[in-house]
Amino acid sequence: MVDVLTCNDFKLQIIYLLKSSIAICLTAIFAIACAPTTNAPRVGVGLAAQEAALQRELAVKEKIRLNQRLNDVAQPIMVSNTQMCGKLVSRYIGVSFLTRDLLSNELKSAYEKVYGIRDNPTVVLVAKGAPAEGVLQWGDVITHMDGKTVPKGARGIKFISKSLKDKKTAVPVVVTIKRNAETLNVQVVPLIACDSPVYVAELDEVNAMADGKSILVTRGMMRLISTDEELAAIIGHELAHNSRRHLQAKQGNAVLGTIIGAAISVAIGVDVTRIGTSAGAVAHSHGFETEADYVGLYHAARAGFEIENMPNFWRRFAAENPKAFGFKGGSHPSSAKRFLVLEATVKEIKNKQELGVELIPEEKRASALAKGTS
Ligand SMILES: [Zn+2]
Repeated sequence: MVDVLTCNDFKLQIIYLLKSSIAICLTAIFAIACAPTTNAPRVGVGLAAQEAALQRELAVKEKIRLNQRLNDVAQPIMVSNTQMCGKLVSRYIGVSFLTRDLLSNELKSAYEKVYGIRDNPTVVLVAKGAPAEGVLQWGDVITHMDGKTVPKGARGIKFISKSLKDKKTAVPVVVTIKRNAETLNVQVVPLIACDSPVYVAELDEVNAMADGKSILVTRGMMRLISTDEELAAIIGHELAHNSRRHLQAKQGNAVLGTIIGAAISVAIGVDVTRIGTSAGAVAHSHGFETEADYVGLYHAARAGFEIENMPNFWRRFAAENPKAFGFKGGSHPSSAKRFLVLEATVKEIKNKQELGVELIPEEKRASALAKGTS
């Protein structure tokens, strides 16, 4: 084994040795040992500033790319599970917006340059296959919805969201946009879909969360995922927490939407550690996790995703992140049990698919529910 001394270790030794009489000599050695000795190229301040601006633009593009991917995979899941989402449905157009006031100072100019973000809600992404695809595009600035003026700032995004939620039938929406120098009126025909917006959270931990209304998937989780099917498994699981109203069952409506309040900012890098942990802790109990695994596979299968390999992803996830979701066991399902339940669920769903039976999770009988048994 090799011991490697850092400069700090070395300083401690110097302090110790200062008390003895050979300190001066060792101080000289310290200065040589801890200073760089090669002649790296020097760069000017101006060039460094240009490079920093470029790197900010790359960072912004990467954030939106991850959110785009998440929204692309979520789209068919939200649209195909309306029947299972109960009251958690609304008109869906598949668009994410940002406004200038939501941008951090660090990334403001990069967002403005790359995506043309203005004071009014500005489109940053349109989900693949969503109703707004081919109608709206990134950089479109929304000024009116159905003839009503959209407020500036984050209030404008809430206004759009509320105006979509107000009606439960898919009546067309007339959107007035500024695109380059033109003002255009375009029509979007929404779908009725599960109302659980998805966001990438700027966290390195491998995790995903649901707060009763929205879904967060961490950047760490996005890195672990290699296929759309794996991402669908995550979204299906989190949607199941929301569609089965796990948070409502635990804590009532008061805590709902703790993530969604911050979610608009999540796409631009707000730290959601505290919010996510509090919401996540509520949902993670043994029974709810098993139900989210079970129902989540149905959500993914109904959207047309191949579920065959989904249990394997959870196996890999357990290996990568043994503490997440309470994998230690105790009040939470162990990863072993979880894997086996998922495998059995895959068989159940495949069997239904072969028989041409509608994909609806099996509900406990009322008598079993009353007794608290399965
Ligand atoms: Zn869960």
